[in-house]
Amino acid sequence: MTVYTDPILAAPALTDQINQAKRILILTHINPDGDAIGSLLSVWHVLKTMGKEVIPLASSPLPGYTTWLPGAEQIQVYRAGMSLPEVDLVVMVDTATLGRVGRIYDEHVHELTTLPIVIVDHHVTNEGAGTVNLIDPAAASTCELLCELFQAMGITIDADLATCLLMGITTDTQSFQTSATTATSMRVAADLLDLGADQLRVVREVYFALPASSAELIGQALAEMRRDGPIAWARVTLAMMRDTGAEDEAVDEVVRMLQRVAGVRALVVFKERQDGTTKISLRSVQPINVALLATYWGGGGHAQAAGATLNMSPEQAEHEVLPRLQELVW
Ligand code: 5GP
Ligand code: MN
Repeated sequence: MTVYTDPILAAPALTDQINQAKRILILTHINPDGDAIGSLLSVWHVLKTMGKEVIPLASSPLPGYTTWLPGAEQIQVYRAGMSLPEVDLVVMVDTATLGRVGRIYDEHVHELTTLPIVIVDHHVTNEGAGTVNLIDPAAASTCELLCELFQAMGITIDADLATCLLMGITTDTQSFQTSATTATSMRVAADLLDLGADQLRVVREVYFALPASSAELIGQALAEMRRDGPIAWARVTLAMMRDTGAEDEAVDEVVRMLQRVAGVRALVVFKERQDGTTKISLRSVQPINVALLATYWGGGGHAQAAGATLNMSPEQAEHEVLPRLQELVW
């Protein structure tokens, strides 16, 4: 196992791994976001150009704002009981742990722990379980890191590839607003615009195509937002999801709305799941580190954006999480 943080240093080892492979499976995390799908598709574009047979496999359906991306129609969505295609290399992007690929991992532990794996990621909680790992927690998105890697590998970035990379940079930085955003994030994005990335389409799909059902869900969740000084929280129940017909991606919008409220320094959204568990989404401002808190429940993420799944109802999860969050913030 080798862990690189610098794409320039990682490029030869990664190129070597890819050259040894013929059929490559690309994976990313469950409930994928723009960075997950942007990364998955970027790697797909590059490996195709390198003459590989490539299978991009998502662990759950794509968020609506990514389905138009060049190559998105090639992505297969995993279903329970599916067999893994015969491959000789796995590339896993934007995914902090093997377990975060969800059912694909649960149902194929053996294959995934014996095949060579290349990991490219920016989560601070990534342990680098791959054969070759490029993990840079200073990168604001995996797409930013991939762009630097592709440049170091001497790969020509065409407009379609540039658009996929820009998707991840745009969503993970929330258009250059997160504390993880750096001058490099902006430089990489500027390079991508020069290379023909369709920035107007990315912005339109991400910010100006909110499904009406998402708007309704935001309304319901915010109506019951709770506050305790610098902490805000909200619940998204199965009943709300059913009532509004909203997709999972709508929950991200609830999170984003809470982040905008004046005086909020840390927040948590409790999402009730079908299987009786509760997914928590944590956000904070510097220097409050919610990644550490999330690992307490077996989750992870970034210092200012993290998540975990708790094996209990949202109500119980509130009792469990809020005191610890209060302790962290106060
Ligand atoms: P979100 O709250 O948007 O689902 O996740 C915020 C960040 O934390 C993302 O970078 C996501 O990948 C990470 N994250 C969310 N849930 C989990 C989890 O259960 N385990 C780990 N390791 N990371 C998570
Ligand atoms: Mn990411």
